[in-house]
Amino acid sequence: MTVAAPQVPGSAKKPHALVIGSGIGGLAAAIRLGARGYRVTILEKLDAPGGRAYVHRRDGFSFDAGPTIITAPFLLEELWNMCGRRFEDDIDLRLMDPFYRIRFDDGRIFDYSGDADKVKAQIAEYSPADVDGYDRFMKMSERVFKVGFEGLAHKPFTHVTDMAKIAPQMAILQSYRTVYGMVSSYIKDPFIRQVLSFHPLLIGGNPFTVTSIYVLISFLERKWGVHSAMGGTGAIVNGLVSLVEGQGTEIRYKSEVERILVEKGRAAGVRLTSGEEIQSDIVVSDVDPATTYGKMLAEHPRRTWTDRKIDRSAFSTGLFVWYFGTKRQYPDVKHHTILLGPRYKGLIQDIFKHKKLAEDFSLYLYRPTATDPSLAPEGCDTFYALSPVPHLESGTDWEAQAEPYRARIARYLSETVLPGLEDQIATSLVTTPLDFKLRLNSHLGAGFSFEPILLQSAWFRPHNKSEEVDGLYLVGAGTHPGAGVPGVISSARVLDTVVPDASTFA
Ligand SMILES: Cc1cc2nc3c(=O)[nH]c(=O)nc-3n(C[C@H](O)[C@H](O)[C@H](O)COP(=O)(O)OP(=O)(O)OC[C@H]3O[C@@H](n4cnc5c(N)ncnc54)[C@H](O)[C@@H]3O)c2cc1C
Repeated sequence: MTVAAPQVPGSAKKPHALVIGSGIGGLAAAIRLGARGYRVTILEKLDAPGGRAYVHRRDGFSFDAGPTIITAPFLLEELWNMCGRRFEDDIDLRLMDPFYRIRFDDGRIFDYSGDADKVKAQIAEYSPADVDGYDRFMKMSERVFKVGFEGLAHKPFTHVTDMAKIAPQMAILQSYRTVYGMVSSYIKDPFIRQVLSFHPLLIGGNPFTVTSIYVLISFLERKWGVHSAMGGTGAIVNGLVSLVEGQGTEIRYKSEVERILVEKGRAAGVRLTSGEEIQSDIVVSDVDPATTYGKMLAEHPRRTWTDRKIDRSAFSTGLFVWYFGTKRQYPDVKHHTILLGPRYKGLIQDIFKHKKLAEDFSLYLYRPTATDPSLAPEGCDTFYALSPVPHLESGTDWEAQAEPYRARIARYLSETVLPGLEDQIATSLVTTPLDFKLRLNSHLGAGFSFEPILLQSAWFRPHNKSEEVDGLYLVGAGTHPGAGVPGVISSARVLDTVVPDASTFA
């Protein structure tokens, strides 16, 4: 069955762009293409937008499914400006202070923020000798930021020469080192090393193997702050949806793409699982590239992203997320808390290297009601607890393991920061790597697609302009520059340099 592309009044002459997936990268791509004169249709498998930033609502509680830490807000402001609107008119963004409360397993606390004096005063309590090392580390982070973020994040890495051009700078910045290795060259105290090196875990990277380019996150956070939106991240997703709809873009929910159609080597549209075919001039996929190539282009001969190459690639961690509402409030718990378990390197090795579900865990605990009580019924709190776990290569039987694992987390939280939790639960929902695979079509159920190791970064990552099919473009966490809200918005920004002007289709 073939159906002509839907028509928006007055847009018949515009070239048609299909965007597969309404994750933040897909929505940002749609906005940019709409602003450049394309008629855009977004096809989304689920019943609502956001992808990893979907919102679960139950029993009066509102749960952001994924991203909660908003950095580099100028990237969002830019999207609003492209639509002639002001971000601050739609979204009430609040600066977090501290950025994160970090709790070590022995109960000690470190409030990490962008205030250098406050951070240094705390470092002095742990290890006075490291105060100077922190200053030097932040200077290094700034240098890496200038190259890695300002210089590279918005550039296309389409040709190997693009990589060759930056190699000398990367060598000077010692990008061959790991984040943990780089931090350790400035800091001696094992606790402070954790405080300054855990960031790659937020985008699925292993601090002990990921390229030290990612130390730029420390400076990025200090420069623009760590924010959260009133109404949760869902408010940002709704804002992005209102921008695309304002441009005349249609979002079709419950519309799963089965195949990208290729004619004469060029993307010509898609076929949905319903059998419907939709034609277009270009296709943009916001879906995990391993799925885009391995499933949606399964029948198309591929030179680079073959099944073998995908099988040999390293994928990021899986995530276990427990969303829960409580009948009472826990006012002492900050908006963002990181609870580090008894092991650091050992646990990370179990997750990434041994692919083994460990007995212990480190958690990120999100309590948005610390800032916005409207996300829970009166007198209650909304939480999620996130535990990085191995992806599905671990062979974990999540259908059997989810409940015992959740119960272990509940007990641990009850014994630490949420006393009496087990008797206070009003509502509960869990997500495992199996859900990432089945709901979001994420290869191996990974939380953040390809692991951000050096040999899977920049030119080595799936390109934003497909290497396999003309007229196909990729955005989102698995593409350059990588995962995280700033990363996926930047991937859409790269489209401006690789997608031809709409006028070329006239
Ligand atoms: C639990 C969690 C916490 C996180 N926390 C943070 C954070 O605090 N800060 C931060 O910056 N980042 C965070 N991240 C990372 C960030 O959320 C992601 O990197 C980013 O949102 C991914 O966006 P994306 O554009 O790659 O699309 P995705 O969110 O992956 O969306 C892809 C979309 O494609 C749809 N889709 C899949 N297959 C098909 C198909 N065949 N047809 C049609 N549609 C399809 C999916 O349903 C989905 O809606 C977090 C991620 C997770 C999972």
